[in-house]
Amino acid sequence: MAGSGLKEQFWDPIAGFGVTFRTMFRKPVTVQYPFDKRPTAPRFHGRHQLNRWPDGLEKCIGCELCAWACPADAIYVEGASNTEDERFSPGERYGRVYQINYLRCILCGLCIEACPTRALTMTNEYELADDNREDLIYEKSDLLAPLLPGMEQPPHPMLLGSDEGDYYRGEFSPQPRDTTAEQPGGAQ
Ligand code: SF4
Ligand code: SF4
Repeated sequence: MAGSGLKEQFWDPIAGFGVTFRTMFRKPVTVQYPFDKRPTAPRFHGRHQLNRWPDGLEKCIGCELCAWACPADAIYVEGASNTEDERFSPGERYGRVYQINYLRCILCGLCIEACPTRALTMTNEYELADDNREDLIYEKSDLLAPLLPGMEQPPHPMLLGSDEGDYYRGEFSPQPRDTTAEQPGGAQ
């Protein structure tokens, strides 16, 4: 028993400090966030984005498939009809109201798999914390992709084809640059 007492008094502290000394010479793994932000994996699931066609029209057709696919009931969509005077997307319908509740979202990505027009994708943006609940319900205006050069703010007529089929088949004339996958954050 005396031997075990000696071990506890002398050897155990030395062994404990040995761990400390070994670690002192290792490269630190601590990241000084938010001053040091490491890039995420390319396919990291971050904040969503509602994409546009190269003329600025919205890809969302207000079909609600993303909302039905969501296991957390985090998406709310209200579709509406385009008119001759007010067109937001090619074809008949567009998403008039689009909300994602980031208090509920678990960033699983099922919604983007369900979207038939690739309107909805996910960026690499992960800074979604806030100090109140209201601001964590993102509206369509928060989620829409920015207008890139060559795009016009909807509503406006279809500029790339005579009907929605030209858009969906990519039969643009002349073939413009598809900006869907080039939005900031690397849409997935
Ligand atoms: S990522 Fe998952 S939880 Fe979040 S809105 Fe999409 S389906 Fe719902
Ligand atoms: S984001 Fe896609 S699935 Fe959701 S309503 Fe729009 S078109 Fe439909």
